[in-house]
Amino acid sequence: MKVIGEKMNKTNLTNLVDQMTLTEKVDQLLQLAAAFYSDKAEEKTGPMSDLGLNEDNINNAGTTLGISGAKEAIRVQKTYMEKNRLNIPTLLMADIVHGFRTIFPIPLALGSSWDLSVAEKMAEISAKEAAVSGLHVTFSPMVDLVRDPRWGRVMESTGEDSFLNSRFAAAFVKGYQGDDLANDFSRVAACVKHFAAYGAAIGGRDYNTVNMSERQLRESYLPGYKAALDAGAKLVMTSFNVVDGIPATGNEWLFRDVLRDEFGFDGVVISDWGAVKEIVAHGVVADEKGAAELAIKAGVDIEMMTTCYSRYLAELIAEGRVAESLLDEAVLRILQLKNELGLFENPYRGADEWLEAELILSDEHRQIAEEIAAKSIVLLKNEQILPLKRSEKVAIIGPAAQTQDILGAWSWQGKQSEAISLVTGARRMSDNIVVGQEVFDYFEPSQAAINEALALAKSADKVVLALGEQEWMSGEAASRSDITLPEAQLDLVNLVLAQNEQVVVTLYNGRPLDLRGIDGAKAIVEAWFPGTEGGSALAKILWGDYNPSARLSMSFPESVGQVPVYYNCDNTGRPYESDPDEKYVSKYLDVSNYAKYPFGFGLSYSQFDYESLILEDQVMTEDRNLRGSVTVTNQSDVAGVETVQLYICDKVGQVTRPVKELKGFYRVALAAKASQVVAFEIDESMLQYVHTNQKMSSDSGEFELLVGPNSRDLLKVTFALKKNR
Ligand code: BGC
Repeated sequence: MKVIGEKMNKTNLTNLVDQMTLTEKVDQLLQLAAAFYSDKAEEKTGPMSDLGLNEDNINNAGTTLGISGAKEAIRVQKTYMEKNRLNIPTLLMADIVHGFRTIFPIPLALGSSWDLSVAEKMAEISAKEAAVSGLHVTFSPMVDLVRDPRWGRVMESTGEDSFLNSRFAAAFVKGYQGDDLANDFSRVAACVKHFAAYGAAIGGRDYNTVNMSERQLRESYLPGYKAALDAGAKLVMTSFNVVDGIPATGNEWLFRDVLRDEFGFDGVVISDWGAVKEIVAHGVVADEKGAAELAIKAGVDIEMMTTCYSRYLAELIAEGRVAESLLDEAVLRILQLKNELGLFENPYRGADEWLEAELILSDEHRQIAEEIAAKSIVLLKNEQILPLKRSEKVAIIGPAAQTQDILGAWSWQGKQSEAISLVTGARRMSDNIVVGQEVFDYFEPSQAAINEALALAKSADKVVLALGEQEWMSGEAASRSDITLPEAQLDLVNLVLAQNEQVVVTLYNGRPLDLRGIDGAKAIVEAWFPGTEGGSALAKILWGDYNPSARLSMSFPESVGQVPVYYNCDNTGRPYESDPDEKYVSKYLDVSNYAKYPFGFGLSYSQFDYESLILEDQVMTEDRNLRGSVTVTNQSDVAGVETVQLYICDKVGQVTRPVKELKGFYRVALAAKASQVVAFEIDESMLQYVHTNQKMSSDSGEFELLVGPNSRDLLKVTFALKKNR
């Protein structure tokens, strides 16, 4: 590719800003859809004048959204550069969330792997496929902490725990960006989103209000974003919600005081789609001009898809309401990012049609997608029915048996036709399976389909009943108030059980579900939306070629009425377990206070036992860590991987503390009958939390150390921290 520019330094970039006209600078903050650069653009985008745009804006818009291939990327960049007076390249962005064309499991499933290398690998391959297709930036990772499975976007997060989310956030960023973004054109810049606390939308209703204390924001919600920034994420996206009454996208405290000053972030901030204009609908400004003022003052550099900046920024500057220096800073940050991506030397960067054909959906990528899917599938229940044997005749029935609708939301480049269904995967495992001919609907199956399924169930030794949600049932603007399976599927469970008691239910879905109604099944396998190779991974699990190792990163409620139900809830004055008669315990009359399948839970075909949780001492100080160990034994004849989880409970804090918090985890591979002493170390930073002064620190006092296979079944010892001051 022709090198047409030179690498810039800060002085060059500042000079470039000085050469730009006010309009060119404002346009640098504008993001437009790729459609604006196509033939007959206005047919796709609507008249430019309706958006307050003209040809000049389009030739100068700093960034472009939604490029889908190298050819398009090269054409758009070429058209753009030909018209751009100062030869500044445009920046091409899109949502590459869990794969580009090779689709990996949804992030909530990746979170269930508890395997950071999985996240890094998925991000690396996604970046590779996106980069050869011409993209420079991905709107990922989404690290919003999620506690309410009614919210459709829980599928985009790695779960309910800020420690686990933070570890994953860093791994994603590392995978997307690599170590040398400027020279490694197979990587893309990561945009962490949605800053901040979008996951706490009340009632799980998308875009709803968020209301929480600053302390909770800092303690539970901010660490994920911070971890992504510490790992080097180049961009941050605003969230749609308010933070303490002020829309995040116009929230100066959040973006200037916290993100820039406190976290030291000097990269680019982009609004979420239309979020600048939405400040008006939030009702804190009267018009788009006011929205532009609030957003630029908050430090939002790029306005995604609306045109408040284009229309009003110059006017606001002329009137003295906004200092031009704020605009200059934003422009400089955007140019800086373009420079860090090497775009001034090579505006086409990784875009390469030949490599695109070679790399995208390659056998190697498919193979890795299968391994990652297998590592993300959680075995929730197994009463001696799994793994299936090849000698057994297995009927695979239900709406999800043959479906290729297994990619999950945010897989816009993925193709269902390229996905491996469960039945296709199963045929590779065993010759002894029977499947139906009738199409089985998720909601209203025909009587013929039901009859056929029941006949197959009756004829077989065991039944795999494949159920779940369809892709559109989770993701953005896809909240559900009822998170059970569709009624027709619950009816089917009972009908099938009447024919054959040997039933394994498999699930494809984008959120923790309320699983009442399928208790009769002897096994439940949570496969999430597992991506392109999902069916092959699931079949390997079912027939025991892969021993399940995943653990939930978000609790499954006993009933939807309990939500939010999460493991690290705060202590109350009437703790659930302290009253033996449970007389005064605050609880429901109809269900328990507990999750059905708690955070960290997941079974294996191995049987792991824990014993001898030991600490070398009972007291630690700020300078002296505490070392300890636990012995884990695989009692079974099957090799497997166990995730040893370490939680700490702070007995007395300055403020009410969670009943326990994850502080470490260790994935341990254990051969049949093997034992391992798993060593760990506790240091003072693990005992810190946000105090009323909004700062992290620890207190002297007593703590419980809890170690085990999930957040519920734990061994316990106590220790104390003695601080000098
Ligand atoms: C979503 C973002 C996404 C953006 C661009 C918005 O609606 O909230 O997560 O990155 O669209 O597609």
